[in-house]
Amino acid sequence: MSTLVIKDLHVEIEGKEILKGVNLSLNTNEVHAIMGPNGTGKSTLASAIMGHPKYEVTSGSITLDGEDVLAMEVDERAKAGLFLAMQYPSEISGVTNADFMRSAINAKRGEGNEISLMKFIRELDEKMDYLEMPEEMGQRYLNEGFSGGEKKRNEILQLMMLKPKFGILDEIDSGLDIDALKVVSKGINAMRGEGFGCLMITHYQRLLNYITPDHVHVMMQGRVVKSGGEELAQKLEAEGYDWVKQELGIED
Ligand code: ADP
Ligand code: MG
Ligand code: MG
Repeated sequence: MSTLVIKDLHVEIEGKEILKGVNLSLNTNEVHAIMGPNGTGKSTLASAIMGHPKYEVTSGSITLDGEDVLAMEVDERAKAGLFLAMQYPSEISGVTNADFMRSAINAKRGEGNEISLMKFIRELDEKMDYLEMPEEMGQRYLNEGFSGGEKKRNEILQLMMLKPKFGILDEIDSGLDIDALKVVSKGINAMRGEGFGCLMITHYQRLLNYITPDHVHVMMQGRVVKSGGEELAQKLEAEGYDWVKQELGIED
């Protein structure tokens, strides 16, 4: 089992404090959902875990099996087993989707231990089939001209190919129609198990109809203010966030 622990994390963007002491602990074999209103710092948390240079950690810690994640470069974090599916995946012209994934896999495996081309292609075909993606998407430039739904599906393809210890999925459900949502959920559910833990950031309970989380957290104003089980997501869907604010005495 692996564990990702975030302790009293404070993060600034351009001198403004966005995260004000986030505490969170995830094990592999668990799916955690983070919900919360817009602008509360959910994407900031995801970026800080992955080491985006714009996000400055001013105090607190992130550890993966006791190792200091904050001391690692971005590529070292990926190598250690962290993966981020971004809210807005970037387009990279001139690099095909398949090449991008093979490079990422090989960077993780290390020199002298590269995946064979045959094995890579076989696995890519199999996963693309599973995610109902047309074969030609492997040969297209990364995310270039991909629809919103195709980008999200592609993030899950990367997740399944890279097999990280922890996947952080930032609004993987946004902009998806119901069929795409089902496929994306199928991919995430297929990853569930001993060696994989997941942090799903979402605005909507809808995603959680397809992926039942083990834990649900509410984030507000830069902190995780409440945690519970699946029933918490249902209550948020039905009643919104006002009751949480009232309960905790949070002012807008
Ligand atoms: P969420 O994902 O919960 O909607 P974000 O983490 O994206 O929230 O944003 C939290 C706060 O940080 C917001 O007030 C937002 O305006 C600010 N913020 C996010 N990214 C940037 C950035 N790159 N530059 C400046 N401010 C930012
Ligand atoms: Mg947002
Ligand atoms: Mg966000």
